[in-house]
Amino acid sequence: MPDAGTMPELCEILNISINDLFSGEKVDMKDNEKKLEENLIEMAKLKEEKDKQLLTLEYVLGFTASVSFLVLMFVASYVEMQTVARIILITLGFISFMIGCFYGIKIEQVAGYYECDNCHHKYIPTYKSVFLAMHMGRTRYMKCPKCNKRSWNKKVLNK
Ligand SMILES: [Zn+2]
Repeated sequence: MPDAGTMPELCEILNISINDLFSGEKVDMKDNEKKLEENLIEMAKLKEEKDKQLLTLEYVLGFTASVSFLVLMFVASYVEMQTVARIILITLGFISFMIGCFYGIKIEQVAGYYECDNCHHKYIPTYKSVFLAMHMGRTRYMKCPKCNKRSWNKKVLNK
């Protein structure tokens, strides 16, 4: 699968359509629409699969960041060492936890969609609104861009 950015140029050089490229063969005009539909479904499946992997990565990242935070805090609190070493460990713990949170929330923002509980509109929110939202797991209390109502928005994988 070539990089999305290079596809138009590649197709121009090969004198084929994007649809031909995805199908792996020259598509007849009469089959064109059917093939296009199949390719779109295939792409949606690929995106869903990738989003699923991303959300698993979010768990791993969150778990690793939390455990390393706790271990560093524990060591800094109970192990015999100089004050300066304690401060360094606590700082490292906070930094790794913040980095974990930052990337975890970034993944949650872009993987899949949030569904408004009020109008069932599915959307990708801004990083800021995900970051600031109250949440229970991945269900976040956010304002829907379509109906402007605040509700608990569930994470869903497909539109
Ligand atoms: Zn809504």
